[in-house]
Amino acid sequence: MDNCLFCKIAEGQIPSKIVYQDEDVVAFEDTNPQAPYHILLIPRRHITSMADLTEEDGTLLVRLFMVAAKLAHKLGFDESGYRFVTNVGPDAGQSVFHLHFHLLGGRKFTWPPG
Ligand code: 5GP
Ligand code: ZN
Repeated sequence: MDNCLFCKIAEGQIPSKIVYQDEDVVAFEDTNPQAPYHILLIPRRHITSMADLTEEDGTLLVRLFMVAAKLAHKLGFDESGYRFVTNVGPDAGQSVFHLHFHLLGGRKFTWPPG
């Protein structure tokens, strides 16, 4: 999609620190990390948020979750624990309107979140 930051990152038009990519999924470091490890996972295909998912996206979603779990293991924070979240709309503070999941690890997180 034109003028979408994360579409441009997925296409390599905007540089990012990519930690994993395949034909459907791209994972890259967040430029404003909120934890020692803060990785964003996106589908290559433009989807605005989880509100626009359909049944046909089931396989893609499982892939996103599995890639996140494998990255947490590879980077060594799977046993201490991590958080995997997506923000939707203004109250959650969504600022980029291309579906993305935050994979956060390397510190203790509070619950409920702020
Ligand atoms: P949201 O607030 O929409 O849930 O998350 C957007 C995330 O994208 C934020 O954590 C923000 O730091 C990150 N971000 C914004 N612009 C860029 C960028 O150009 N490159 C990277 N790697 N991350 C970005
Ligand atoms: Zn996009």
